Amino acid sequence: MQRIGHIYINGEFVTPHGQEWFDLHNPSTEEVIGQVRLGDEEDAQRAIAAAKAAFPAWSRTTRAERIAALRRIHQAIAARESELMEAIVTEYGAPAERGRWMATYPADVVAQAIDALKTFEFEEQVGTARVILTPIGVAGLITPWNSNAGFICNKLATALAAGCTAVIKPSEMSAMQTQIVAEALHEAGLPPGVFNIVNGRGEVVGEAIARHPDIAKISFTGSSAVGQHLVSTGAATIKRVTLELGGKSPTVVLEDADFGQIMPLVLQAGFANSGQACIAGTRILVPRHRLAEFERVVQEAVSHVKSGDPRDADTAIGPMVSARQWERVQNYIRIGVEEGARLLAGGEGRPDGLRAGWFVKPTIFTDATNQMRIAREEIFGPVLTIIPYEDEADAIAIANDTRYGLSAVVLGQDLERCERVARQIDSGRVLINTLAHEPRAPFGGFKHSGLGREMGKWGMSAYLEPKTLLVGQG
Ligand code: NAD
Repeated sequence: MQRIGHIYINGEFVTPHGQEWFDLHNPSTEEVIGQVRLGDEEDAQRAIAAAKAAFPAWSRTTRAERIAALRRIHQAIAARESELMEAIVTEYGAPAERGRWMATYPADVVAQAIDALKTFEFEEQVGTARVILTPIGVAGLITPWNSNAGFICNKLATALAAGCTAVIKPSEMSAMQTQIVAEALHEAGLPPGVFNIVNGRGEVVGEAIARHPDIAKISFTGSSAVGQHLVSTGAATIKRVTLELGGKSPTVVLEDADFGQIMPLVLQAGFANSGQACIAGTRILVPRHRLAEFERVVQEAVSHVKSGDPRDADTAIGPMVSARQWERVQNYIRIGVEEGARLLAGGEGRPDGLRAGWFVKPTIFTDATNQMRIAREEIFGPVLTIIPYEDEADAIAIANDTRYGLSAVVLGQDLERCERVARQIDSGRVLINTLAHEPRAPFGGFKHSGLGREMGKWGMSAYLEPKTLLVGQG
């Protein structure tokens, strides 16, 4: 049983003022495997004060100094890959393939921030003015449990590259990952106060960060409800806010698609990260005249998708992160049945043969309408909804009839047609016949899926304030 008793403030691991010990679970067994001592408002304030004190010197560092610091971070995080992998599987339940990606992503994303910094233009001549992009101040970075180490590293590396200092409030449910990242960051030897990490509850530490006048900017990844709350809370101190929120992403299967060929992409998009992915393609739009054929192919394909022990090599879907998340997913499966959608695969309860662990059967509803709750609300589990459409215009209308707009997939043989459809989908990202990622391109959502963008020069810009300099005669 691991006990994580420290938070990280001003270059040191310190005992929090907060007294609460929070249980960490292994979602595959439901057992308590550790405890983390949570910080409180006072801890948040100390961390913010440290970041504020460190800001003037860090904001004046040169590009070369920041690159050197980020390289040390990269090296230290990369050296922790296998430890991170173990924590991710134990504490989060990611299946092996996903876990490996989640363990390498934190270092990769630091390398990507270095790349962005190398070519970033901090100054530009505009007419008679010199425009200087200046670091915004102390950034509050708040992360979710579904990729905690990756989000900490992405947000922090970008903030540091821009010249900001930071207070990180990681997911309280991912303290083992946070501990490994914190130790690696400490080894990287940055000046004290440049980054600070406070484990704590969202409504305590997160809230303190959101209200504090010395926090200039919040970068938040999490649910749309908390994102909305952060915008209104931050309004009192005119905070800059970047939000990466939820999704109900469409996978648009065009008429000419070869179902056998596309099915692996359809299921990978839908069941990504055990269904606990903001970008998961959970609405599958299928031409009505080919619905029966699609159902046959998907039913056969999903029968080979194993939900179970994440340590088994053939497992595609691991457990839900918590009992609460498991209950939520079960509830949505009941709702789907009550709404009259037809269950094509899966359903309520654990997969056959599993008595413990927050496992869900890979579940697919068909014959659904886009008005049903299972088509409108983010379930955040391996539950997919097939919605038939009449023609291309109808497919686009259904794809866009959602409050979200984070990601979309378009599948078909005629690439021109795919692109025509893709261009009409209101979404931060549209993928055609691929699930690839391009880290130099912006990532973020339309509508309720977010505000602003992360990654590349767009991500950097979000931590900078343009200053216009006009010079007259001396
Ligand atoms: P959540 O919103 O419940 O929590 C996210 C973080 O916010 C946690 O650290 C939490 O402690 C903190 N928080 C909670 N209440 C707060 C408050 N009042 N003030 C400040 N902070 C607070 O989300 P979650 O359940 O951890 O994660 C799942 C959600 O994250 C899903 O909706 C998913 O779509 C979204 N997500 C989005 C992206 C993206 O890039 N768009 C990526 C991953 C996850």
